[in-house]
Amino acid sequence: MKALVKTELGFGNLEVQDREEPKAGKDQVKIEVKYAGICGSDIHTYEGHYKVAAPVTLGHEFAGEIVELGEGVTEFSIGDRVTSETTFYICGECEYCKSGDYNLCNHRKGLGTQQDGGFTKYLIARKESVHKLPENVDYQSASMTEPLACTHHAVSKTEINEGDIVVVIGPGPIGLLTAQVAKSRGATVIITGLTNDRIRLDKAKELGIDYTVNTQEEDIKELVNSLTDGYGADVVFECSGAVPAAKQGLDLLRKKGQYGQVGLFANAEVPFDLEKIIQKEIRVVGSRSQKPADWEPSLALMNEGKVNAKALVTHEFDITKWDEAYQAIKSGEAIKVLLTPVQ
Ligand SMILES: [Zn+2]
Ligand SMILES: [Zn+2]
Repeated sequence: MKALVKTELGFGNLEVQDREEPKAGKDQVKIEVKYAGICGSDIHTYEGHYKVAAPVTLGHEFAGEIVELGEGVTEFSIGDRVTSETTFYICGECEYCKSGDYNLCNHRKGLGTQQDGGFTKYLIARKESVHKLPENVDYQSASMTEPLACTHHAVSKTEINEGDIVVVIGPGPIGLLTAQVAKSRGATVIITGLTNDRIRLDKAKELGIDYTVNTQEEDIKELVNSLTDGYGADVVFECSGAVPAAKQGLDLLRKKGQYGQVGLFANAEVPFDLEKIIQKEIRVVGSRSQKPADWEPSLALMNEGKVNAKALVTHEFDITKWDEAYQAIKSGEAIKVLLTPVQ
């Protein structure tokens, strides 16, 4: 089978290779991939900013059909429509594993980073990580369960009350999902971007996000102040990973506001105004990836129509056209790009 493999660390080194079809071992299932999404972190990996266990098949956001059950698997049947958490191995013994915080286990191995992932036709997942798709969730949407779970994780780390003003900085897929999850909690949501993000801000409007702001043309602070009697935003989610956005997020918050860092800075050093955190008594939370408890609620959000993930898909390519996919993302023309397997 053909697989899109990061062959070596460093810039590039991405190749479609022939790989042997894997077999499901004990307590594992074999999934035929229908769609696999390209994540911002895959771009970082391509560009050499992230370490993965090369050579490895990338792709940690995927959905497909179960085609083989390993020994000891009774929870699933052949033909089940599923997605899988990225967790492939955890130590199971550290304090984080015991509390279900697998995203923090030091020994965790993830699909598409340390273990072969979804940019191919078949992959192997551990049965504990696999989730069946609810009726109203199609394969395209389901391939975005992982990023949605990441945003569910971030939003769940803050407290949002009905009518709170939430600012989401960065209208990429993660920002657009965060905005929808925050709205599902009753918030009034403002999403911000730059001139280059026009397509993404238009998408936010289409998704019913309350306010979309191009911060190169409009004064975001003025809007936030007008909506909050000058107090400032209740919650800010920084989803761009752009260094100036972190400062802007702190500026927009009210006293006792909450700041959630979701975007990845890819090794950039970030000056962060601790004085402002003291003076405004801001609560800062980081959110890394997702954990098991985020998955079923994320599938439910899509099933109930509270999150429209499919609307983010602007491009689909088969894995041999990965360079076109990369260009579409880098140019700002694409929002979410899904890859499909080839024979
Ligand atoms: Zn991802
Ligand atoms: Zn552990």
